[in-house]
Amino acid sequence: MKKANVYFIPLNRKPSDGEVCDCSAKLLEQILRSEQIALESELALKVHFGESGNRTYIRPGCYDGILELLEQRHISASFIETSVLYGGNRRNAECHKKLAKDHGFTKLPVVIADGIAGEDSSLVPIQGGKHFQTCALGKGFEAYKQLLVLSHFKGHGLAGFGGAIKQLSMGFASKGGKMAMHMGIQPTLMNFLCVKCGLCAKRCQVDAIHIEPKGSGKKSWIDHNKCLGCGACYSACRRHAISILSWKGICNMLFRKSDFREKLVEYALAAHQGRRNIYLNFAMNITKGCDCEPRPMLTAVPDIGIFASTDPVAVDTACYDACASTGLKFKGVEQLAYAEKIGLGTRQYDLITLN
Ligand code: SF4
Ligand code: SF4
Repeated sequence: MKKANVYFIPLNRKPSDGEVCDCSAKLLEQILRSEQIALESELALKVHFGESGNRTYIRPGCYDGILELLEQRHISASFIETSVLYGGNRRNAECHKKLAKDHGFTKLPVVIADGIAGEDSSLVPIQGGKHFQTCALGKGFEAYKQLLVLSHFKGHGLAGFGGAIKQLSMGFASKGGKMAMHMGIQPTLMNFLCVKCGLCAKRCQVDAIHIEPKGSGKKSWIDHNKCLGCGACYSACRRHAISILSWKGICNMLFRKSDFREKLVEYALAAHQGRRNIYLNFAMNITKGCDCEPRPMLTAVPDIGIFASTDPVAVDTACYDACASTGLKFKGVEQLAYAEKIGLGTRQYDLITLN
């Protein structure tokens, strides 16, 4: 397989946001020139706004150089994100947008791609995966042929590490997609809580939900032969009448982490394929935990630098290798081999260091 180019600017000491902003703009200019990439006139910047209480996410000032470059080229840009499964201040579009504003992401419009409560998804087919034939991504991503995927490279409890692949997978998935990756869900409908509003059935893209008429005395139910496990019904139900918990799912999540990592990679393929994305990984503020964690964390190694590539596997491999060279060996490296196997990219790269 042909090697991918990974462009790199080292950050040898604690840099200011201004220095990071200059370096990231320089990297973007370089990759556009060297890889002969034309920017689309409408572009989304996939970022992570950082959970409330987290202090090590990549601050918005670090992206200012990129924003200036896009403005000079008359590109219409937005920040784009999806809501999370769990509680916290990124659980739906309203509080997620407020958090983005509070954390200073004010220079571009903010798009929450999976709708108000994580219910808007597009089912994207993939080939060659073990776990999924379709992936439920936030519907808002459909509008973009190209994204700048800006990822903080750091650790993650289940994934081992999070960079471009994690940003593409969990970051692009609708709530249903996130649930499918986490649990391999089989939703069940709890009739004693259901008020037969029918919202869940409207959201189900495969007509798997049967809501019996009020007063009929019959129980509503979900046809698991049709169900894709997207979880959209769970997000839609305001009465908490749909449950996604099963012993099988919980055991998978706790004891079969490699399945979870393969699922991440399959979702990343769905988000990457058919687009000419550019990936920038910021290997700085490198913590063992993720930016989703609502608490301050200590960094595990000194800042390394910023990496850029058109190949999400190559850019993550370069970051993984750079961390390993400092003695920080993250778990989860098998996801890179699986990503190569299903055609997401290559682990072979040439590192091109810019001064
Ligand atoms: S959305 Fe909830 S309350 Fe409404 S029909 Fe479905 S399960 Fe019942
Ligand atoms: S029943 Fe299955 S396919 Fe339909 S919305 Fe719920 S999880 Fe998705």
